[in-house]
Amino acid sequence: MKNNKKSLFGLPQKVIHCKKCLMTNQKPFSMNESKNNDNQKIGMKIFSDGICAACKYSENKDHLIDWKKREKLLQKTLDKFRRTDGRYDCIVSGSGGKDSSSVSHILKYKYNMNPLTVTFSPILYTDIGWKNIRAWIQTGGFDNILFTPNGKVSSVLAKEAFKNLLHPLQPFKFGIKTIAAKMAIKYDIQLVMFGEPYAEYGSQDTDDTLSPSYNEEWFINDSNNIFLGGLSINEIKKKYSWISKNDLSTYLPLKSKDLKNKKLSVEFLGWYLKWNPQEMYYYAVENCGYNPDNQRTDGTYARYVGVDDKFEWLHFFCSYIKFGIGRCRFDACQEIRSGHITREEAIKLCKKFEGEYPKRYIDDCYKFMGLNKKEAMKIIDNFRSPHLWKKINNKWVRLQELKEII
Ligand SMILES: [Zn+2]
Repeated sequence: MKNNKKSLFGLPQKVIHCKKCLMTNQKPFSMNESKNNDNQKIGMKIFSDGICAACKYSENKDHLIDWKKREKLLQKTLDKFRRTDGRYDCIVSGSGGKDSSSVSHILKYKYNMNPLTVTFSPILYTDIGWKNIRAWIQTGGFDNILFTPNGKVSSVLAKEAFKNLLHPLQPFKFGIKTIAAKMAIKYDIQLVMFGEPYAEYGSQDTDDTLSPSYNEEWFINDSNNIFLGGLSINEIKKKYSWISKNDLSTYLPLKSKDLKNKKLSVEFLGWYLKWNPQEMYYYAVENCGYNPDNQRTDGTYARYVGVDDKFEWLHFFCSYIKFGIGRCRFDACQEIRSGHITREEAIKLCKKFEGEYPKRYIDDCYKFMGLNKKEAMKIIDNFRSPHLWKKINNKWVRLQELKEII
């Protein structure tokens, strides 16, 4: 079918599926969200052999990387930062999910580091999410600072991010990226350790994976053009006169000068140690009392990824609308790369679950943002890019159905 409609998000007009997994060139890169005022994205690369950047990264993990050498480098890095005088020597930021639980546990109990764990609270904790953060602290055994931003402000920002970008978690995601560095400065800690490199999911250029460091470009913004939820700071203050710049400071990016003379290293443990999401899940269960959800997540078959915030359900549904990539596909592609399922099995799973309406917590999310379902659905439909969606007989149909790619 010839389709001359352009992507609303600056992504390629022609959708290409990776030949190895099911990810497409519509998968956007991670970006510094404080610079996001027009929702324009760079999509993941599919190479000339038809294989996507995430699969290439996975192949390198299996064949090219000398993991013994990388672990020695890790020892060296940790030796440089380790403290034995009672002060914290590294920060692990997370909500108590499988990755942050595993990273902190490995650092503390395998490598004798003294991590401070930091949590930027999910917008709306699920019961299982709350149980898991408590298990992380109590069973895993960590000091933790739970930072919970002003609920009135986060409600407004989630709503604006939903209306302007169809990305209700955007301010929260940016908060997570910055809080670890902000806390490191506050506590005079020089190492921040995240888990898996973004390249694992094709959210980062593969060239960026030559070093273990997190790209500072993602949380520093020295310009005065700072956006939250698609609005500039001045636009927010004008629209909501009760919000001051103080109220927004939690969400603001760092400036280069904040890090001057600080020697802060922000790194990925998954660069040093071979990262397998499923193994990290088992590790977190065994060592930190991590619990999977008691039912599968709407939109997928899995029940242990991203289950701590009620907004995650809506977030992945928004991804399905904007990019044609639903929650099931993220899970299934990861499992193809890990060798747990075949591409054919993944297609079957996606046909069954992808794009399922996230009914479980959606009313709570709409209520938090002060929207009713009708208003919310209207907003959602505004983001159906014409190169991905067409209304046929009053029903939205995705143009690139999976049956076409087998
Ligand atoms: Zn792929």
